[in-house]
Amino acid sequence: MVRVRFAPSPTGPLHIGGVRTALYNYLFAKKMGGSFILRIEDTDRTRYVPGAEDYIIEALDWFGLETDENPIKGGDYGPYRQSERKDLYKQYAMKMLEDGNAYYAFDSAEDLERMREEAKENGKHVAKYDATVRMQMKNSLSLSTEETAALLEKGENVVVRLNIPSDRRIGFKDIVRDEVSFDTKELDDKVILKGDGMPTYHLANIVDDHLMEITHVIRGEEWLSSTAHHILMYEFMGWEPPQFVHLPLILKPVGQGKLSKRDGAKFGFPVFPLEWKAEETYAGFREDGFDKDAIKNFLAFLGWNPGTEQEMFNMEDLIAAFSLEKIVKSGARFDIDKAKWFNQQYIIAKDNAEIAEVIKPLLQNASYMGHSDSFILGFIELMKERVESYNEFVSKGYYFFEKPRIEDEKIARKKWKDENELHFTAIRTQMAESSSFDSDTVQGIIKGYIGDNGLSFGAILPILRIAISGTMKGPDIFGMMSLLGKEESIDRLHAGIEKIKAL
Ligand code: GLU
Repeated sequence: MVRVRFAPSPTGPLHIGGVRTALYNYLFAKKMGGSFILRIEDTDRTRYVPGAEDYIIEALDWFGLETDENPIKGGDYGPYRQSERKDLYKQYAMKMLEDGNAYYAFDSAEDLERMREEAKENGKHVAKYDATVRMQMKNSLSLSTEETAALLEKGENVVVRLNIPSDRRIGFKDIVRDEVSFDTKELDDKVILKGDGMPTYHLANIVDDHLMEITHVIRGEEWLSSTAHHILMYEFMGWEPPQFVHLPLILKPVGQGKLSKRDGAKFGFPVFPLEWKAEETYAGFREDGFDKDAIKNFLAFLGWNPGTEQEMFNMEDLIAAFSLEKIVKSGARFDIDKAKWFNQQYIIAKDNAEIAEVIKPLLQNASYMGHSDSFILGFIELMKERVESYNEFVSKGYYFFEKPRIEDEKIARKKWKDENELHFTAIRTQMAESSSFDSDTVQGIIKGYIGDNGLSFGAILPILRIAISGTMKGPDIFGMMSLLGKEESIDRLHAGIEKIKAL
């Protein structure tokens, strides 16, 4: 029975990379008929950010990544918030202490600082609390039993550290990377329990993965090096470790390095699922008008591919096609243009009534309200192939709801000829006299007039278009006029030409 977990720390808004981790966990759980669990890893109280847990839950909810067990609905392995499991971890640290696999350390901040400085003086790149220095530090290995007892009694700066063996290779199989191994010389004696009795991430993580019977740990590559510590801890506890799957890094759109939270503002696109408003504000895919299914499709391809040409996958197809073996090792570049492409494809394919539900809240402007549902649906049908996001329905198609601004002034000036004015007046009269105003009728009137009078399309259509919508970039002009209706079209044609003449 497959059991996977998404285990974010509520230290701020959930990064889009975290959503990808959640998505891969979800896809794998669904594929295997297993369980998908949300566990909140909130033991580091110094980094706790209020609102972050709600944000995580809201983001998963928006994407429809439903969890089977979580802090809110509970489950057989709860609680699912590590801060509520605090008392449970200590016994495991004690067991490692008793077995000599962990030790007490009493070093103050100054002691640790001195250690770092000495490491620097000795030409070491990274200062590690490890086998090479531990006997010079203040801990239960270097001190006598009496000294240790006295320091424990005093209770200052007490932590429990892992006693990493000095000369071993720790190997494990990662489903993406195959055999991975670390020399214990590379590992430090990590703190597993802090003075306040709170476990650190490492202890809480392995204890919970064990107790919650997690079968596969699917997480970001940044945790790969911690896995060696985790494997050792499983060994110390005599527990079977889960299988590991480390997902490739998400890279900046251009240049070197990991996509960071600052890249969003820098490159002008969101790197968070939802908007986050605190001291700093970050844009969100939802608020920027992206479709959640499009983003899931996009994220699925950020580190995985089905090995075929197919790119469009709904959730059902993704679940069917997904496999851990097809996750790639190399970093995945965050290509926002690809996200926009997916978004566009999803909007085009989406049912107009569903689009209406998403964009109605965006049409809050008073003059946009009060339109019939059929007007909104007609508007969506005309605009859906011309937008990259839901927000663009409003920003690009505002003129369906209010009088247009003349955007393409230059073209208007170039195309305007005083001698054509009479034709526009005549077209207006013909429109006014027409008993119907569907798109074909409007087309018939205008094209008929052009033909009957030996005019060119170029003499009439650009001016007509700009008078109606202000821009040359709008959708089908006849459909647009039909939707706006006879009176409004006549009115706009008249007012538009007055504006164009005055340019
Ligand atoms: N709490 C860790 C994080 O925030 C979880 C890492 C893991 O999945 O083990 O990413």
